[in-house]
Amino acid sequence: MSTRAAQFQATVRRREPLTDHLVRLVLDDLDGFASTGVPDEWVGLVVPGQFQSRYYTVRDFSGGELTLDVVVHDVGLVTEWAMRDCVGDTVTITEPKSSFEPPADASWLLLVGDLTAMPAIARIVETRPDLPTTVLAEVPDDLADYLPAGPDVTWLSPPSHGQSALAEVVEGLDWPPGEGYFWMAGESAQMRAIRKHLMRVVGLPTSHYDVMGYWRATAGRQPRAVDPGPLWRAGKAAGKSDEQIWAEYDAAREASDG
Ligand SMILES: Cc1cc2nc3c(=O)[nH]c(=O)nc-3n(C[C@H](O)[C@H](O)[C@H](O)COP(=O)(O)OP(=O)(O)OC[C@H]3O[C@@H](n4cnc5c(N)ncnc54)[C@H](O)[C@@H]3O)c2cc1C
Repeated sequence: MSTRAAQFQATVRRREPLTDHLVRLVLDDLDGFASTGVPDEWVGLVVPGQFQSRYYTVRDFSGGELTLDVVVHDVGLVTEWAMRDCVGDTVTITEPKSSFEPPADASWLLLVGDLTAMPAIARIVETRPDLPTTVLAEVPDDLADYLPAGPDVTWLSPPSHGQSALAEVVEGLDWPPGEGYFWMAGESAQMRAIRKHLMRVVGLPTSHYDVMGYWRATAGRQPRAVDPGPLWRAGKAAGKSDEQIWAEYDAAREASDG
């Protein structure tokens, strides 16, 4: 039984270009919307004239205002809309979901991602100052002021050939000693490679990492996103291993390519 996520209308109150590739949108009039309080929480966003949603991280929700930071790239439903002056537009937002869940014994955080992951990384750093945190960020712009002070940050420039190098970066990592939590988000093909590396080479238990494909490098507009939640629950109920469930999830995502 699919439980349809609650939906909320919202109004774009402010639009602020933060860098050449990142636009901040502040929405309000969100009657009844509530944050989960989890720093990587995301909402579905449906822009005027469209019916397909795209996921965006809640960079902040306070005083009745919801802040989303939108990556501006070449073509796409949301990016083309966000490039224009969308102040005053009404959008639809779905109730938030989240996945950041460090185990109680985590003594460090390792946060890795591209530009789409930065809103979540910034909120995680803000929310968990208690844990020593290392950030590896592959971004095209100068984002030195984007992250709160505290973590040890390495800024990486995306390779000139346009493909991310994050998989290589993670494969060459010097892991901190002791138990910790690895959180990562970015382009899906990279994330699949990294999940396999974490499971098969590093041998990290799935309770100690969260690796999410946030977007997929395809030509033209993206196919529908696949929600891992139902697959995970059904897999667990059927007694499947984490690796089996992730393999099925990756297969479902490849299948949704059509
Ligand atoms: C849980 C979650 C949280 C997310 N949080 C954020 C967030 O806070 N901010 C944010 O900007 N994005 C975030 N994303 C990613 C965002 O949902 C996707 O990038 C989405 O595809 C953008 O929609 P679009 O309509 O602009 O482009 P689409 O119509 O989906 O895609 C059009 C084309 O653009 C390409 N494309 C899509 N995204 C990118 C990109 N980022 N860079 C380069 N090319 C791209 C696709 O390959 C496709 O060819 C998140 C995704 C998830 C799953």
